[in-house]
Amino acid sequence: MDILKLTLWELRELLKKKEISCVEVVSSLLEKINSEDKEIHSYLFVNEKAVEEAKKVDEKIAKGEELKELEGIPISIKDNMCTIGMPTTCASKILYNFIPPYDATAVKKLKENGAIMIGKTNMDEFAFGSSTENSAFGPTKNPFDKTRVPGGSSGGSAAATSADLCFASLGSDTGGSIRQPAAFCGVVGMKPTYGRVSRYGLIAFASSLDQIGPITKSVRDCAILMNIISGKDEMDSTSVNLEVPDYTEFMREELNGIRVGIPEEYFISGIEKEVKEKVENVIKIVEKIGGKIEKISLPHTQYGIASYYIIATAEASSNLARFDGVKYGYRTENYRNLMEMYMKTRGEGFGEEVKRRIILGTYVLSAGYYEAYYLKGQKVRTLIKKDFLDAFEKVDVILTPTTPELPFKLGEKKKDPLAMYLSDIFTVNVNLAGLPSISIPGGFSSSNLPVGIQIIAPHFKEERIFEVASAIEFALNGRRK
Ligand code: GLN
Repeated sequence: MDILKLTLWELRELLKKKEISCVEVVSSLLEKINSEDKEIHSYLFVNEKAVEEAKKVDEKIAKGEELKELEGIPISIKDNMCTIGMPTTCASKILYNFIPPYDATAVKKLKENGAIMIGKTNMDEFAFGSSTENSAFGPTKNPFDKTRVPGGSSGGSAAATSADLCFASLGSDTGGSIRQPAAFCGVVGMKPTYGRVSRYGLIAFASSLDQIGPITKSVRDCAILMNIISGKDEMDSTSVNLEVPDYTEFMREELNGIRVGIPEEYFISGIEKEVKEKVENVIKIVEKIGGKIEKISLPHTQYGIASYYIIATAEASSNLARFDGVKYGYRTENYRNLMEMYMKTRGEGFGEEVKRRIILGTYVLSAGYYEAYYLKGQKVRTLIKKDFLDAFEKVDVILTPTTPELPFKLGEKKKDPLAMYLSDIFTVNVNLAGLPSISIPGGFSSSNLPVGIQIIAPHFKEERIFEVASAIEFALNGRRK
């Protein structure tokens, strides 16, 4: 048995039954990371002290003490979530030496439940991107084909989970950054409803869109992590005080009349043939296992990218004002006065895409353009949200491809930001509307590249997503337990 191939749930069962030693798991994981991650580069920081924690878990097991939900399970964290004592760089030179004095709430909850923090994963700088090529520390590669990108911005988390370099990971999703890399790397990734999971300690990109969520090897693993990270947090006033159901109770094998909406706008001409074929295959499977397929329309879909890139850059330009060389991180060496220190620090510390977004965001917020761009963007956002709410009068969930394309080649879109932005065409609208959504593996192309299926549900109805996602997973490959 290759213990590193186990799902989180499987590992947990073996640990509980004392059939496996935690030290054995963690040491072989660190060994694998040290040998294989040189090439994949999914980690920016690896916690070599994890073995010490594993020893304590084994002692607990030996004494017959009860293990917590995630006790002894190595989990990685995207490098934009604060972790006490571990670097948190956002894959940016401007934060290259930042070590936070506190944990993000989601991280804290994992630790309280016994998880072992195995390391921090690579990402696009400040989560701006769809390929992880915008990392200041070099790109991550797709484990299925190392000449291709893993998607982004949570590309490190998705690649690490896919290559069995961790048992699960936390990512963040502002416009698709959990789901798109999950699709490209053949793993499961969920963006929860806005407000479901605390954003405290997540370094902000666009605060009205950002959500933390799990990236896992199976749907059940995703449910296990959602149970833990969801819920109201005093430290984030946008987190919502609603009961969190036990999501693991929603694992299904059939769909008993659940109405699944297929939006015509998501099968546009630009979609790659093999992606379309795989999604159509899954739609047939959904029908076979008892789902009711309904054609629906989300008429404002095509305005999503434009609206998203106005709102997201506006918020980002304001959020990134805090990186000025005074409070934390990088500071330029030679300067004559305060203004020059600010300018040189930001000029040298930020990468090209970050600067592009700050300029764009500042522009759309400036006097004279605010109404024309930012306000217009917000109005379109309302229309997009209304499209979804109307559709959910008729259907229980919506099923779409996660991305219009297969994982693309490293370098293919790096010089063409617009082409890169279009990669999120099927995911950004979900963030604009604040809805929950998942990407699950939906099969492979003829060249053995994974295709992702996206399932979207109404606000705070993550359990519906779990029903449909687990049933499809089971029908496709017999669910991993
Ligand atoms: N790719 C999108 C962007 O670059 C989404 C990023 C994200 O979700 N963090 O903005």
